[in-house]
Amino acid sequence: MASNGSAHAAPAGHADEYKNHLFPPNSASQGAHVSSREQYDEMYKRSITDPDSFWGEIAESFYWKKRWQSPVRRFNFDVRKGPVKIEWFVGAETNLSYNCLDRHVEAGHGDRVAFYWEGNDLNEDSKITYSQLLKQVCQLANYLKSIGVKRGSDVTIYMPMVPELPAAMLACARIGAVHSVVFGGFSAESLAGRILDSKPSIVITASAVKRGAKPIDLKGIVDTAVKRVQAQGHSIKTVLVFDHVLAAKRENVAFTEGLDVWWQDVVPRQPTDCPVEWMGAEEPLFKLYTSGSTGKPKGVEHTLAGYMIGASTTFKYVFDHRAEDIYWCTADCGWITGHSYVAYGPMVNGATQVLFEGVPTYPDAGRAWDIVDKYKVTLLYTAPTAIRALQSFGDSFVTKYSRKSLRILGTVGEPINPEAWKWYHEVVGEGRCPIVDTWWQTETGAHMITPLPGATTLKPGSATLPFFGVEPAVLNEKGEEQEGECEGYLVIKKAWPSSMRTLSGDHERFETTYFKVYPGYYFTGDGCRRDKDGYYWLIGRVDDVINVSGHRIGTAEVEGALTQHPQCAEAAVVPMEHPIKGQGIYAYVTLMVGTEYPPPASLKKELIATVREEIGPIATPDVIHWAPGLPKTRSGKIMRRILRKIASKEEDQLGDTSTLADPSVVQTLLKMRGQ
Ligand code: ATP
Ligand code: MG
Repeated sequence: MASNGSAHAAPAGHADEYKNHLFPPNSASQGAHVSSREQYDEMYKRSITDPDSFWGEIAESFYWKKRWQSPVRRFNFDVRKGPVKIEWFVGAETNLSYNCLDRHVEAGHGDRVAFYWEGNDLNEDSKITYSQLLKQVCQLANYLKSIGVKRGSDVTIYMPMVPELPAAMLACARIGAVHSVVFGGFSAESLAGRILDSKPSIVITASAVKRGAKPIDLKGIVDTAVKRVQAQGHSIKTVLVFDHVLAAKRENVAFTEGLDVWWQDVVPRQPTDCPVEWMGAEEPLFKLYTSGSTGKPKGVEHTLAGYMIGASTTFKYVFDHRAEDIYWCTADCGWITGHSYVAYGPMVNGATQVLFEGVPTYPDAGRAWDIVDKYKVTLLYTAPTAIRALQSFGDSFVTKYSRKSLRILGTVGEPINPEAWKWYHEVVGEGRCPIVDTWWQTETGAHMITPLPGATTLKPGSATLPFFGVEPAVLNEKGEEQEGECEGYLVIKKAWPSSMRTLSGDHERFETTYFKVYPGYYFTGDGCRRDKDGYYWLIGRVDDVINVSGHRIGTAEVEGALTQHPQCAEAAVVPMEHPIKGQGIYAYVTLMVGTEYPPPASLKKELIATVREEIGPIATPDVIHWAPGLPKTRSGKIMRRILRKIASKEEDQLGDTSTLADPSVVQTLLKMRGQ
């Protein structure tokens, strides 16, 4: 493993200087799959001008029961010309479970570890090889078939991060059932809503889970949700319960005869082989409800072949994956990141992964780096929110571990502020590891704008350049495509393999949300800037762009400036009504761990001075509101809709807060008003 690359020279000074600093690929990326900018340019060009041969060649290395017909892609993005339709690899037949498991075992890699499982508590661990996992997936698939689950059936999965979770997804894929994984941290109400939308006959869950010091009664939540859906006229026939003995004693788990079934009582008795169902390329693979940071969750539907190619090709190139890598993605399988970059992309590539059940701050803030050393993790993929949280505890939790194995660091979920990028790069990666800042969405299924570690010169805070086959454009207010350096709405011009195909049961909402805003384009909902080198800088959701006296200011930019201040751990900025400027800037600020609230009044002045210096007086925050905690979704994203309501003193209209990770932060925030 090349881990002795020369350190990048790190610039001193302010974020702006840092943002403009270039980090070319270094020796840590020698021998990468894509090893130069020229190679990227050449491949990118071919992916756009000749998608048939580009994707056709890539697809050759997968297993197909039946080949596709040419052309490889057929689509209509223009609502004026008819319904929006996206198809890839029409006519082909394959199976994702086969490509993730059987293919590797048949190639003689059955003894390779698929998952090193690290439990919530220290010293709880296990591992499972590809051939063991294949047997388990077959047994579960056979059990599902025995209770009537078949091709096209819906299955809801509500489980902790144990290997049985990706196994359940693969078992569904094996027999053509459509899974809907709901993050095992959602409330009974959210779970019930998602069950009612997809109407499965079975829910797969576990008795309980410990996340940090806190035990969570998963089975109890499922029971409440099942009763709630029953009251609405939908009945669940089976609740399959994985007996998670490390989290709960079986005798303490409520159990309903005739409905509940213990996984351990039925699955191990099934035969260990199960022929796969050969599925059409465009048959549905899964539904996944988006995190809901902007309103009612949407059931995003992905289909088989294009998604398989998209998730695994991005995994291979963006993480420059090699057989000897140990890859750890901290996302839960309940999010798209856990689908594409735990369950499917890595498994199609035969990767060895770490699957972690707990949280990176338990038992202390060094846990993540302890895990990195324990398994010699080479590729780490996490989110800015986690990076900032760990950063707020100080460097000593990081530096007491070696981290020598790390080769590439990834980030996803939000724009990464330059200060967090710098810490991730310099402290975590010791200046050695390229950072892949991957922009994509539940809807896109796979990375869209991202560096390739051996080819792309990095700029801190920029997701850099489009992946193969992705044609982004930046539109102005009038919907006109802009050339060169510009700022506006990020859209995509043509279908990419892992494009979502529809919203579950609501093709009209699909067209309205994504294709009617600017006819002819897929509308991402994100604002971005393109610089003179063609690099993309995501500046937040379109709704989060603040218009101060006619100047468009991205919330991410102001947040990035605030976190430059050494005492600011995290910031969230929302617009507020302003009598003169139209909109003003309302900033919530979380201070470094250990600071008392409210801090001395002078700190507000200092923070404001930092923003003025970093961005300019136009971005001066009008209000600074101390936030010992911020309202976040279970996936760690800030719920700005709630912050906007608090800023406008409309806290009686907060709406659905059931998807908040910690609802009590709202009360604390209200107490801090005016402090
Ligand atoms: P909802 O659509 O329900 O409101 P969500 O958009 O948070 O939820 P996801 O699909 O998980 O759900 O997140 C995609 C969004 O996350 C993107 O549209 C973008 O705003 C943000 N995002 C993801 N990765 C990045 C990144 N690397 N840089 C900047 N923003 C990112
Ligand atoms: Mg979204």
